[in-house]
Amino acid sequence: MGDVFYQIDTERCTECIGHYEAPTCQQVCPIAGTIISDPHNPESEEQLWDKFVQLHHADKI
Ligand code: SF4
Repeated sequence: MGDVFYQIDTERCTECIGHYEAPTCQQVCPIAGTIISDPHNPESEEQLWDKFVQLHHADKI
């Protein structure tokens, strides 16, 4: 509705791995299809888990 927009920090997004079964932001956004995966930054599930562990100083669940 205006000039304000938000950008997901790819260094911190784990696609919700470690927290939820699916990307939560995609589920709660009222406009379907507006939050999409970055085609220039594909990450495997293993890479997302590694990021989760690094961000939370945790072991894999
Ligand atoms: S809600 Fe999940 S998928 Fe969305 S930006 Fe945050 S970590 Fe990434």
